[in-house]
Amino acid sequence: PPADPAALAVRDLRVTFDGFTAVDGVDLDVAPGDLRFLIGPNGAGKTTLVDAVTGLAPATGSVRFAGRELLGRPVHRIARLGIGRTFQTATVFEQLTVLQNLDIAAGAGRSVTTLLRRRRHLPEAVAAALETTALTAHRDRLAGTLAHGRKQWLEIGMLLVQDVRLLLLDEPVAGMSHPEREATGELLHRIAADRTVVVIEHDMDFLRSFARSVTVLHAGRVLSEGTVEQVRADPRVQEVYLGE
Ligand code: ADP
Repeated sequence: PPADPAALAVRDLRVTFDGFTAVDGVDLDVAPGDLRFLIGPNGAGKTTLVDAVTGLAPATGSVRFAGRELLGRPVHRIARLGIGRTFQTATVFEQLTVLQNLDIAAGAGRSVTTLLRRRRHLPEAVAAALETTALTAHRDRLAGTLAHGRKQWLEIGMLLVQDVRLLLLDEPVAGMSHPEREATGELLHRIAADRTVVVIEHDMDFLRSFARSVTVLHAGRVLSEGTVEQVRADPRVQEVYLGE
């Protein structure tokens, strides 16, 4: 079968910092259209795993996306293959409007030639991102004046206009109100309809409502994997994570 454009396949991934192994032989497969939650206690290696996939942490093993090996490629080349991430603190241009933020993101990392060739498609991508993130009515507001939740959605929108196929989100609902969390869960489901989403998360209620599948990391290794019900019923998970 042809390589699926949104499939992530991680094999025997290892990341070591000064002799300390933060990711210790992880295998991970995320199917296209999955909404995978990555959970585990503090220090389990979740962020380091995402860092390794996005080129920010030196790793050994193999990380393939749509059949292409990512390890050894620089960050910007990995991004250009359609992989994008957010960090716990939203990084938007606060003094620019929502629309300007999306326009800039749509042009990020592209040559002028590519930009000119793609120009007539940009408004369409930006309009679609505004709609998906429910920011259409806020497009002329300065990003710095947005409520916390909307700022996070704008950052996700900035990945959507770059045609990111795999989104890696680091605790997207941290600090959000309950309604903002619900709206974010629904947003992630809309996005995962035709893209692949991996979410680092601590909030168990959010996970229960919105995860399609879960991987539990512990001490740099995969402890358990499956549906929310399966990992919750796993005694090893209850011991190290849910019992905290
Ligand atoms: P999590 O995201 O699951 O909380 P991390 O991936 O942030 O865990 O960290 C995993 C382990 O690796 C922790 O023990 C952390 O202290 C260590 N670590 C992460 N980044 C570095 C680094 N740049 N240098 C040294 N140790 C690190």
